[in-house]
Amino acid sequence: MVSVSTRTPTSSGESGATSVAPAGGPAGGGVTGGPCRFCGAALRHTFVDLGMSPLCESYVEAAHENAAEAFYPLRVHVCEQCYLVQLQEYVTPEDIFTEYAYFSSYSDSWLAHCRDYVDMITDRLGLGGDSLVVELASNDGYLLQWFVHKGIPVLGIEPAVNVAKVAVDKGVRTLTEFFGTELADELAADGTQADLIVGNNVLAQVPDLNSFVGGMPTLLAPGGVVTIEFPHLQKLVDGNQFDTIYHEHFSYFSLVAAERIFSAHGLRIFDVDELWTHGGSLRIYACHAGNERLAESAALTDLRDREIAAGYTDIATYSVFEERARETKRKLLEFLIEAKRAGKTVVGYGAPGKGNTLLNYCGIRTDFLDFTVDRNPYKQGRFLPGTHIPIHAPEKIAEVEPDVILILPWNFKDEIIEQLAYTREWGAQFVVPIPEVTVY
Ligand SMILES: [Zn+2]
Repeated sequence: MVSVSTRTPTSSGESGATSVAPAGGPAGGGVTGGPCRFCGAALRHTFVDLGMSPLCESYVEAAHENAAEAFYPLRVHVCEQCYLVQLQEYVTPEDIFTEYAYFSSYSDSWLAHCRDYVDMITDRLGLGGDSLVVELASNDGYLLQWFVHKGIPVLGIEPAVNVAKVAVDKGVRTLTEFFGTELADELAADGTQADLIVGNNVLAQVPDLNSFVGGMPTLLAPGGVVTIEFPHLQKLVDGNQFDTIYHEHFSYFSLVAAERIFSAHGLRIFDVDELWTHGGSLRIYACHAGNERLAESAALTDLRDREIAAGYTDIATYSVFEERARETKRKLLEFLIEAKRAGKTVVGYGAPGKGNTLLNYCGIRTDFLDFTVDRNPYKQGRFLPGTHIPIHAPEKIAEVEPDVILILPWNFKDEIIEQLAYTREWGAQFVVPIPEVTVY
C-alpha cells in the first residue's frame, strides 16, 4: 500500500538549479493547487488549465452509457521552488491502477525498445545469475521476461491485480503491491538487495513521490544502479503535447527537477539517455550519492545545460504553454467546422488516453467525429469517456469510407498512415492534431 510521507526535503545543495524569485505573479486569481508533491511549497502558478475531464482510461460500457460520469479538473501547476510540474491527486491510485486497461505488451515497437534495453543494461552492468533486477510497476512482465530468458533473477512489483496475474503466468515473479519506503524497508529486512532497479513510465503516476523515490536507496545494493524512464517535459512543451496530460499522470519532469528529487533522497543521477518513446522521454541512471565509481557523463552535463539555457529554472518560462494549447484547440475546431460544413464524414483512429484529453478539452463529440476505431478488443464496443464517441474495430473504416480520419495517437502517425494506405482509394485525408493541425 502507499505509505503517507511527510518528509520535506531541503532544496539546497543540488546541482543544476538556481533559486529564483517568483515572476509574473500567481495565476488564476491566487487560487492555489495545494502543496507541491515534492517540496511542500504552495502552488501558485498554472502551467495549463485543460478544464474538467473524466479519467482518460475509464472507457464507458454500452450498459452505462446513460449513467453519470465523474469529471475532475485537469489543471496543472508548476512549483516556483523546485519546478516540478504537477497535477493534484483527485483520485487515488487504487481507483486507477488496481484494474487497469493498459497492457504494455500490446505495442510491438515498445516491446522491441524494452528488449534492446535489457541487452544494453545487462552488458553495461555485467548482470548474471547472481544478480537481482527489480522492476517497479512491472505491468504484465513485458520487460522482466527478457531478463528471465537470460537466467537473471527478477522481482516485479505491480499493484494492478489483473496485469500482475498475466506476468506470474509468464513465469515472472511478481508482488502485487504499491512501491514506497514501507515496502522497501520490508524487502531490505528480508535481505532483498537489487543490483538494478528499473522504473519505466511509472514516476509520473506516483502520487507519493517522496515515498517512491525514498524507497529506492534502501532496496538498492551498494554499487547498484537505478534506471528510470519518463516523458521529458521539454519535449512536451516543445512538441505542444498538452494531450499527454491526464489525471493518471500526476507529475511532469524536467531533468533539473528530477535531479533535485533524487538528490534529496540520497541518490545521484550520473547519466541520461534521450529516447524517442512517448513523444520524447528521458532514461536517467542513478546510484547512491556516495558511490564515487560512477562519474557524471557528458550527456548529463549537456542536457542540464540545455534545460537551464531554455529557462527551465525560471518560473516565467512555464507561463507560455497554456496559450499554445488554446490556439491548437481553435485550429482543430476551425478545421473540423469547415469539414462538416462541406458535408464531409469525419472519424477518428485510435482510442488512446491522450485522445480523451484532446477531445474533452476541445469539446469534440459525435457532432464532429462519428466514431473512432481501435485494435484493442477491450475498447471495442465501448464509448470514449466524457465525449461518448463509440469505439469500433478498425474494419469499420473500410465499411464507411470516411472523407477525413483524425489520428489520435499522433506518435504512431507514420505507422497508422501506412496501415490505412487503402483509404487513399476513396481519397481519404489524414489529420494529426499535435504539434499543430496538419493534413496528410
Ligand atoms: Zn516544489
